[in-house]
Amino acid sequence: MEASCSLSFDAEQAAAFDRIAHLIEGAQEIVICAHTNPDGDALGTQLALERAIRARWPYKQVTGLLADDQPVPRIYRFLPGAEGLVPAVDYAGTPDLFISVDLSVAHRLEDGEAVLERSRHACIIDHHPCDDPFGEAWYIRPSAAAASVLVEEFIQHLGLPLTRDIALCLLCGIITDTGRFQYQNADAEALVAASLLVQAGADPSVVSLNVYQSFRLEFLHLKAAVMARVVTFAHGRIAYSYATAADLERTGASLDEADGLVDVVRSVAGSEVALFLKEIPGGKVRGNLRSKTGIDISGVARELGGGGHKAAAGFTVEGDVDEVLSITLPKLRALFPEGVAQQGGTTSFPRIDLS
Ligand code: 5GP
Ligand code: MN
Repeated sequence: MEASCSLSFDAEQAAAFDRIAHLIEGAQEIVICAHTNPDGDALGTQLALERAIRARWPYKQVTGLLADDQPVPRIYRFLPGAEGLVPAVDYAGTPDLFISVDLSVAHRLEDGEAVLERSRHACIIDHHPCDDPFGEAWYIRPSAAAASVLVEEFIQHLGLPLTRDIALCLLCGIITDTGRFQYQNADAEALVAASLLVQAGADPSVVSLNVYQSFRLEFLHLKAAVMARVVTFAHGRIAYSYATAADLERTGASLDEADGLVDVVRSVAGSEVALFLKEIPGGKVRGNLRSKTGIDISGVARELGGGGHKAAAGFTVEGDVDEVLSITLPKLRALFPEGVAQQGGTTSFPRIDLS
């Protein structure tokens, strides 16, 4: 059955895409990079765009860069082309064009930032709110569910082939950034975009099998610990949990495996805001914040030096779990001024250690 839907966009978006295409046409050596600690949307967009550009301009040299000197997370290695991504730190070229996808702020490029600095031109396709994007051309639409939706529109606008491999990469981005179409960003456009990708040959069950049904036992044991110590406060409206460095060591789970654990926290009935912390090397803690209602948690992430969207944001700060909980939880509580003032509420923020 043919899908009877299509993606459409306005003249402003078409003009932005034309400016980006113009930069691509004028470049011989091109790199495509996404954010540090890449997720399915970051990897999906860069791999899809890399393939699309190669198909249209086979004589151009296109390299997909990884912001960090780390392997692609295990659950995303099924993406076609993932094995060809190069850590930015190992890339010695001087590109004519640096394309940033799923990212608009230079500091989250990590090692890619040095490549950006020596690139002649730069452009962005992204869906993160950004006041001050770098480069000469960009298309940034924070209301888009995933950068993959925007790259799909870019590919469609340029008449580039939407092959099965490209479609699979983009479908992975849309499925993961919408939490399998469960988050508030799962709008009609995301579903239309996904439908067209399935029509182009992408199989949603392949994404599910690799991303959601291929966990190592080590990870499941970590998840069990994180689940066991979920705490709520502010009358159940805020939920949090964490993984310490000791948890990771004890279970044998890897850091990147712990990435989706904020979903465990947000699953608590009645909770509106979810926080998950994990200790990372260098005496730091990485935090993931989520909002299930209209409450905007991105300000808290920004106050802590991070950023993101209203409903999904993150940050990295120095300290251990205890220290970061004591800084972060009062900020979250302050998001509920009336409720907490009227009804009282917990004054301490217990750390539950079941290990
Ligand atoms: P996550 O919690 O899944 O790492 O990130 C949630 C959202 O916030 C993503 O869209 C991610 O790109 C953004 N985000 C996470 N951490 C940071 C950060 O440190 N700085 C900025 N600007 N955005 C972030
Ligand atoms: Mn994204």
